[in-house]
Amino acid sequence: MVLKRVFVSSRRMSKDDLIREYRKWYYPRSTCIAYVVSNEKCQVVNQNWICSEGTSHAEMSCINQITKWIDRDETYIMKWYMSWTPCSDCSDKVIEFLKDYTNVRLRIIAARIYYHDNEDNKRGLRSLNKENVKLSTMKWTDYLNMWHRFIYIKDDEDIEKWELFTGMRGCARTNWRWTLDSILKDNDEDSELENALSHLYIQCSNK
Ligand SMILES: [Zn+2]
Repeated sequence: MVLKRVFVSSRRMSKDDLIREYRKWYYPRSTCIAYVVSNEKCQVVNQNWICSEGTSHAEMSCINQITKWIDRDETYIMKWYMSWTPCSDCSDKVIEFLKDYTNVRLRIIAARIYYHDNEDNKRGLRSLNKENVKLSTMKWTDYLNMWHRFIYIKDDEDIEKWELFTGMRGCARTNWRWTLDSILKDNDEDSELENALSHLYIQCSNK
């Protein structure tokens, strides 16, 4: 079988876009997803960057793009670098998508937790976790991966950690990692994250 390579013309993000949308303690209204899709050989077959527009949530736009070309006979690992975690509605829809496309494994790495006190949103994240979606918050290394993969770098432009990890005036410096851990801990007992395909996450984690 010949493995398809499906490169789409991926939009590039500017450094300003990255800082505006993905900064740790700043609360823009939009949600963005920079996504990378790899096949089971860890070859990147598709990547793009998409944001919410009006009432159209980024998760749905991303799924609409992907389902246009995805091959149900292949296994895919999809990594979403999200500025905010999904709202409860999107969590439910993502789960529907994963139940339909059982050949897709999803990993979400989010800069911030969307309305983290909202019980529906918390339930949505737990449901994703229960459906074997690996969830984590963005570390500096994740930002660097985004920098190299998605950013249109002008001249010898560089980025430093403080540019993303400094709080904007008036924005609470929530500990996102701790917040996510405490939301998901109810699932820990029955989590099935260590499933037969988890090795693929490890294999592809540096791609
Ligand atoms: Zn949503």
